[in-house]
Amino acid sequence: MEQTFIMIKPDGVQRGLVGEIISIFEKKGFSLKGLKLINVDSAFAEKHYADLSAKPFFHGLVEYIISGPVVAMIWEGKNVVVTGRKIIGATNPSESAPGTIRGDYAIEIGRNVIHGSDSVESARKEIGLWFPDGAVPWKSSLHPWIYE
Ligand code: UDP
Ligand code: MG
Repeated sequence: MEQTFIMIKPDGVQRGLVGEIISIFEKKGFSLKGLKLINVDSAFAEKHYADLSAKPFFHGLVEYIISGPVVAMIWEGKNVVVTGRKIIGATNPSESAPGTIRGDYAIEIGRNVIHGSDSVESARKEIGLWFPDGAVPWKSSLHPWIYE
């Protein structure tokens, strides 16, 4: 089954959106396979966002991610990478549709509350970086009520 890496950024934690965001993914039917509240340092944040290191906003992005604890999660389910990105909404909250997390809870691109892997390949890399011990093995007993 496909997995994705979802991170509630420091603004999402500070604003008390952790429960709400977890609830959205749970109610959709996805399974939580990893969860931790963690402070990361700049070397770690730079690694996570390595692909963006040449961007002018990179330094500010790293400062943002290390500004407080983040909630790192592994979510599992059919098409969870693409669907997770749809649930999160467009990168810039002013372009995110209402009903998406960024559309409903954010205003600025540099305070957009949540991260989600953009492909199965980056999900694999990000889960490896954030959860070196891997996912927690369990299967929801709701499985047959969610998948046919
Ligand atoms: N970001 C920013 N300014 C920009 C573009 C991106 O501050 O012009 C930040 C924003 O927090 C975004 C993160 O950098 O979520 C990673 O950028 P990416 O293009 O990967 O967007 P995402 O995959 O998070 O939608
Ligand atoms: Mg991205």
